[in-house]
Amino acid sequence: MAASGKYALVAVPAPLDEPLTYAVPEALRGRLDVGMRVLVPLGRRRVTGVVVGFERESPVTGVKEVAEALDDEALLDPAFLKLCRWAADYYVAPLGEVLAAALPPLLRAESRLVVTFAHEPDGLQGTLDREVLDAVRSRGPLTPAALSRRFPRRGVKAVVDRLAAAGAVVLEDRLRGHVREARRRRQPRPETTAGAQSGRAPVLTEEQQEVLRSIDPRLEQGGFETMLLHGVTGSGKTEVYLRAMEQVRRRGRQSLILVPEIALTPQLLDRLEARFPGDVAVLHSGLTAAERWRHWWRIAHGAVKVVAGARSAVFAPVRELGLIVVDEEHDTSYKQEEGVRYHGRDLAVVRGRIVGCPVILGSATPSVESYHNARGGRYRMLELTERVEARPMPRVEIVDLKTRPGQSSADGLFSAPLLSALRENHERGRQSLIFLNRRGFASFLQCWSCGFVFRCPRCSISLTYHLGRDSTFCHHCGFRQRKADACPECGNLSLSEVGFGTERVEHELRRLLPKARIGRMDRDTTSARGAQERIFRAWEKGDLDVLVGTQMIAKGHDVGGVTLVGVVLADSSLNIPDFRAAERTFQIISQVAGRAGRAREPGRVIVQTLVPGHYCFEPARAHDYPTFFATETGFRREVGYPPFQHLVHLRLDGTHEDKVARGARDLARALRREKPKAPLEILGPAPAPIARLRSRYRWQILLKGRSRPALLALARRAAALVPRGRVFRIHVDVDPHNML
Ligand code: ADP
Ligand code: ZN
Repeated sequence: MAASGKYALVAVPAPLDEPLTYAVPEALRGRLDVGMRVLVPLGRRRVTGVVVGFERESPVTGVKEVAEALDDEALLDPAFLKLCRWAADYYVAPLGEVLAAALPPLLRAESRLVVTFAHEPDGLQGTLDREVLDAVRSRGPLTPAALSRRFPRRGVKAVVDRLAAAGAVVLEDRLRGHVREARRRRQPRPETTAGAQSGRAPVLTEEQQEVLRSIDPRLEQGGFETMLLHGVTGSGKTEVYLRAMEQVRRRGRQSLILVPEIALTPQLLDRLEARFPGDVAVLHSGLTAAERWRHWWRIAHGAVKVVAGARSAVFAPVRELGLIVVDEEHDTSYKQEEGVRYHGRDLAVVRGRIVGCPVILGSATPSVESYHNARGGRYRMLELTERVEARPMPRVEIVDLKTRPGQSSADGLFSAPLLSALRENHERGRQSLIFLNRRGFASFLQCWSCGFVFRCPRCSISLTYHLGRDSTFCHHCGFRQRKADACPECGNLSLSEVGFGTERVEHELRRLLPKARIGRMDRDTTSARGAQERIFRAWEKGDLDVLVGTQMIAKGHDVGGVTLVGVVLADSSLNIPDFRAAERTFQIISQVAGRAGRAREPGRVIVQTLVPGHYCFEPARAHDYPTFFATETGFRREVGYPPFQHLVHLRLDGTHEDKVARGARDLARALRREKPKAPLEILGPAPAPIARLRSRYRWQILLKGRSRPALLALARRAAALVPRGRVFRIHVDVDPHNML
């Protein structure tokens, strides 16, 4: 139903805190509705905005008009807009930016300014005018930015203005090609999935039945409730999700299932397709814009019963939501680390509350926050304590690298127990998984004689050496430099390779196990489209004996032939300066260990470390989550970290070190003068652990307190105190996960 007024409030994808007011032209009166997309002028361009309300009077005079309606009916329902508003408010982000993050790019038509040739003027002022005009004439419409690139540092803007005044060129506002597509109402095409197996469901275990019986009334009646499914690896959590989703389908409703990274879970997609043939839509960033667009429309039209996706799928336009599942709810990839810094799992719970549907969070190693909520009664705890078919949990051994240095391996990458286990497992024709949370060959190159270390010119980070490409790389900004032959400081020719990554591990393994078929899965080997799935399928089929990898290999894989898992150096995740380092390490060891022994044969796990006494190891060895939780929360309570107190991380960055430092000090001082409604701590300012990134200097301030409202009020104040577009910028991160 089109409701309408003379003025429309439109949220536009720009860093504005409030929606903008536009006049509704005569032709569109009565045709616009809340939730419809419109094309509106913004500055010198036109952009896609979403109507979020109407006004009878305009608060200001001389407002611009809505240029065009892009939909015939509301595309986004009120619950969707409510979720976006909630996210904007909580994460201290403009509503327009949340909408931009929530909508696939093809739904966002945009115009840009272009310079087009008009006619040959009688005379021209100078050679530059001549060159610019010729470029515009011969190359067709060009953006001012393209012209500036073509004639760098020559004041092209003034030339264009002069040419426009003489009538030689015109500046036009052109819509990008896809607007026509964005306007067309596409009917969903039925998708048939050829070859999907019949998807026979197994007979449920006692524990699975019990869990499903206990949530059955909630799934039938609907209504908001959050449940934490804590089930050990291989206990059949996925089967519980599938049954719950089937029940929701029988009620004619749709399910949304979030997974950490779709590309890492091809098996889950197989299982979804097998159980809901032709009824699954997928949303994630690995799809092309056109694919995303197609899936989005199928969802918006109610053409599918199941929607699966990564983080941003929490915004999928599902209308008849009956259930939201968040698989591996502890996974860090649910946190968006750029732009609007939202947490997909937390927004899933908020969405469940807004639409009134149950939410299941599942994990073998729940986040401390979720487990705390379940303990405290805010979530319902559901537990699966045993693996299916009474398979034993893998046997985990912690090896102290200090007392058991590599005896057989030249450089100590592999301790004797790990090496002999690897050899034995290979001789028995079984598969081994070798995990190290660091890619590359050497962590850095250092001059043997003067100590010089190769560093990124743009970041305060040393460069990682990659043997295969004979270059050093910055893992933060991508900077690449060919490996030097000599030290640039002292000319010495011997540069030593310090530290190691997955490439080195693979290299060593080829030497130690010459007959084994060895694969590697990390960001370097999976950058090509489809490469990751290819490696995984080879692994799944048993075409690889050993798979080396980063955390990519730790997630959800279920490959029966894996009977040995080795963690080369658990310390690499323990030593990051982050209060969650122990939690991450516990999670990653448990998850990677969980890949072992998932079929008939029991699994064995060997974890190498230099600090075997650390409190995360014994519970990881004993598969004892509650003990880890108790120790960890003891520390967190003492120092006032989440879940006992909440954090907001403020980062300031800019191109001038002194200006950023001064800005951070001024901001901290101003915040300390505020009178918050509840006690808060303001820590800092201090330079960030990574003090420079992509040529920008970084400082930080940490806000801490028990009262979320007081904390958010102060964060909003901070955002307001740093004007946008100045020499430095502020980034507000509510409930931060990465404070490097
Ligand atoms: P989790 O997600 O808890 O790690 P999965 O759901 O992936 O566990 O289940 C592990 C394996 O056990 C999968 O291969 C799955 O098909 C199988 N499985 C699940 N439930 C049962 C069951 N009741 N009986 C037999 N096999 C099952
Ligand atoms: Zn860099």
